[in-house]
Amino acid sequence: MDVSNIQNNTISDNNNFPYLYESVSVIQKITQQFQIEKIIMGTGFGAPGIVLIDILRKINSNIKIFYIDTDLLFQETYDLKDKLEEYYNIKFIRLSTNVSIGEQKELHGDKLWKTDPNLCCNIRKVIPLKNALKDFDVWITGIRKFQTQMRKNSKIIDYDELYNVTKVNPLINWTHDQVWEYIRIKNIPYNKLHDKGYPSLGCTHCTTSIKKGENHRAGRWRNKNKTECGLHFGYKNGKVQVLRNGEKDNGSK
Ligand code: SF4
Repeated sequence: MDVSNIQNNTISDNNNFPYLYESVSVIQKITQQFQIEKIIMGTGFGAPGIVLIDILRKINSNIKIFYIDTDLLFQETYDLKDKLEEYYNIKFIRLSTNVSIGEQKELHGDKLWKTDPNLCCNIRKVIPLKNALKDFDVWITGIRKFQTQMRKNSKIIDYDELYNVTKVNPLINWTHDQVWEYIRIKNIPYNKLHDKGYPSLGCTHCTTSIKKGENHRAGRWRNKNKTECGLHFGYKNGKVQVLRNGEKDNGSK
């Protein structure tokens, strides 16, 4: 499917989506250069993620899509996952740690997300992702430059040293408003918590609603010096890098 088809089939006003052509082009490029079974997309079912799922399904419905189940997601997120599976006739791949919440408590103490959230994210998110990506050559993500200071230097296509994959960020240049314009025009199912002051959603223990005027990710790890779970920026010298509590990651809130 070419870009004009995607645009004509899905969007009435292309001027709202100046980066759609770029997004579609990069996905088409990787589908031509890599085996489809070696390409996988990851999502937490946030707003950019569901836009990307919608675009991806129209380009090649055989590309696998995973989510990381920390066992601590909002019920509304699990509900959205089920709804999207029905909407797109897809089964998302569930990645998770084999360390239960109870085992984590025994190993590292109660409420690790409070005492050492970087270690908690490493156990529940980064290690399961690293294990899963061993079988793939390309990882497609929904990150955008405007989300955090750390993300602003990300490229649309790059090599990820930690996971040893080509990392593709088709929505890298999209703004928050463009993402939501796309969702509204396409009438895609989205997480209802977005309407209740939660523009960015993670685990229940580490996500709050935000106040008017706050950064959209201000509710993630509120009052902690942490803005990323480590999935995208958790490496150094080719190894999983766990940022400790208090260690600066230069992110913005
Ligand atoms: S977001 Fe919080 S609860 Fe979830 S894995 Fe990270 S530290 Fe743990």
